[in-house]
Amino acid sequence: MTSPIKRLPAPAQHIREAYRQLVAEIDELARELATTRFPNVLQCRPGCDECCMCFSVLPLEAAILAEAMKDVQLPKHGNTEKCVLLSGGLCQVYTARPIICRTQGLPLGYVDEFAGTIEVSACPLNFTDDYSFGEDDLLYMDDFNRRFVKLNHEYCRCVGLDPGGRIPLAGFYQNK
Ligand code: SF4
Repeated sequence: MTSPIKRLPAPAQHIREAYRQLVAEIDELARELATTRFPNVLQCRPGCDECCMCFSVLPLEAAILAEAMKDVQLPKHGNTEKCVLLSGGLCQVYTARPIICRTQGLPLGYVDEFAGTIEVSACPLNFTDDYSFGEDDLLYMDDFNRRFVKLNHEYCRCVGLDPGGRIPLAGFYQNK
C-alpha cells in the first residue's frame, strides 16, 4: 500500500517560497542567539540525537519532507521512540528538517499575554533546571508558529486536507 505521506500533493510555489522564507528567518535568529548569547553553553553537535523523538508534523511539513525523502533510503534503527529519519545519530533530511527540529537546544519562549507570563522550554543537556534566562535570551516562537499554521492552512485548503490532521513521521518507513 502506498504511504499516505507519499500521496501528499506538492505545495504550490508561493507556499513553498513563504515556508522557505520562514525557515530562513528562524535559522538566522537561532544562529544569532546561539553565537551571541550562548557561545560556550550549547552542547548541540552532530551525533547528538537526544531531542530527535518520533513525533508528528502538520501536512505542509510532511509534504516538504516527502519531497526531501525521495532519494533517501531509511535504514530501520529499531528504536520506536526515536525519529525514523535518523541514521547513525544523524538526520537524513537535515536541510529540510521541520521547524521544531531547527530550534531545539535553544531556550524557547512562549508568551501568554493574558497571564502576562512567558513559558520557557529548554534542553536539559544545555541548561540546568534553575538556569536564569533573561528575556533577551529566548527564541520567541509564537509569531513563527502563527505564520506556519497560516501557511499550513493555505496548503491544506488548496489540496483538500484537514489542516489539523497531524502526520506521524513513522509513516516514512512505508514511503517506498
Ligand atoms: S527530522 Fe531530523 S532533526 Fe528532526 S527529529 Fe527527525 S532526525 Fe531529528
